[in-house]
Amino acid sequence: MKGLLNLPQLTVEKVTEDGGHFIFIVSGDTPPAACCEAPCLVKNGTKRALYLDLPVQGKRVSIWVNRRRWFCKRCQKTIYQDVPHMDKHHGMTERLVRHIEAVSVKEPFTFIARELGVSEGTVRLVFRTYAARALANRNMTTPQWIGIGLVHYGHQLWTAVIDVESKTLLDLLPSRSEEAVTDFLRGLPGKEAIERVTIGMWEPYRKAVKSVLPWASLVVDRFHIAKQANETLECLRSAMAFPVSKHGLIRNGRRMVLRTPERLNPAQRVKLDTWLGSYPQLKAAYEAKERYRAIWESETRAEAEARYAEWERLLPPEMALIFRDLIHATDAWLEEILASVECGYPAQIYVNCVNGLQRLLNRLGHGYSFEVVRAKWLLKCRASGVPSAVC
Ligand SMILES: [Zn+2]
Repeated sequence: MKGLLNLPQLTVEKVTEDGGHFIFIVSGDTPPAACCEAPCLVKNGTKRALYLDLPVQGKRVSIWVNRRRWFCKRCQKTIYQDVPHMDKHHGMTERLVRHIEAVSVKEPFTFIARELGVSEGTVRLVFRTYAARALANRNMTTPQWIGIGLVHYGHQLWTAVIDVESKTLLDLLPSRSEEAVTDFLRGLPGKEAIERVTIGMWEPYRKAVKSVLPWASLVVDRFHIAKQANETLECLRSAMAFPVSKHGLIRNGRRMVLRTPERLNPAQRVKLDTWLGSYPQLKAAYEAKERYRAIWESETRAEAEARYAEWERLLPPEMALIFRDLIHATDAWLEEILASVECGYPAQIYVNCVNGLQRLLNRLGHGYSFEVVRAKWLLKCRASGVPSAVC
């Protein structure tokens, strides 16, 4: 059983097994930590020290070492023997520390603590020390195209800055304020290289980008606005009273009206047409929504601009009232929406990245601080050598 420990610079004196637990008593002969010359150092007994190690055969491992103690007569200091293979800060073997560092990036702390038989606080402490060291040496390359989007963790709203080209996280900011984004962009090394910025429809993001990166082409995520068109329609639909169907027809048509016509099969289209035929106001709103969606499918900026003006002109007053929020948002962001048509960027990548990050956050579990989430994410990208894509 003595060979189980496999720490070559330590000699195993005794091994005992106590239920699900191995206890090793070991000794090692190393000189004292550097202090003064030998004549000043006098032996001063030993002290038993406990170290934890990686589990062996599924059982927890404790290692007891009698550490030699010296007293330095010149410095009046007590000095302990260094124990080989042991981490100097965490009361555990170096290999256990490396293991916690590697898994704490991916796994929940509570899970690791349970697996290894250490406290959650210890896992957190090892992770924090590691994260501070690793993030200080982080080598960040600023891409030409970044995305800035909102993510939420519980009730907290954070900003994710994304490298859209490689679909990876560039950084996470603890708020969605203009100030936070401005400070981040100002401090970004190599920001001159940024040519395009895609943002969610959030005024502070627009202001921050315009003030720090005035040369960059600013594009808005227009799927956001398409969603708003759908929501308007859904509000109208849900406010209507529908009779209960007796003939297997769609009862309230929610899925039908929100799905784009291309995704409906011929039978569903017939059903939708029949159903909308019974509700003229809903039919008019549905058609207005579909015409609006088609605007942003335009090939050129001028075409999109003309189509939007035409859409607004032909909109009956009643529909203009129903879609007033959409019109207001479109007018407020028209320049950025048109820019997105003009440049033909696949805005969907940005949306997928933000959604991918949000899904990762949802799966992360509760109770982590912003600093820990940020470090976990940024280190996850480093751990694999290549940044890990978020979508
Ligand atoms: Zn000394």
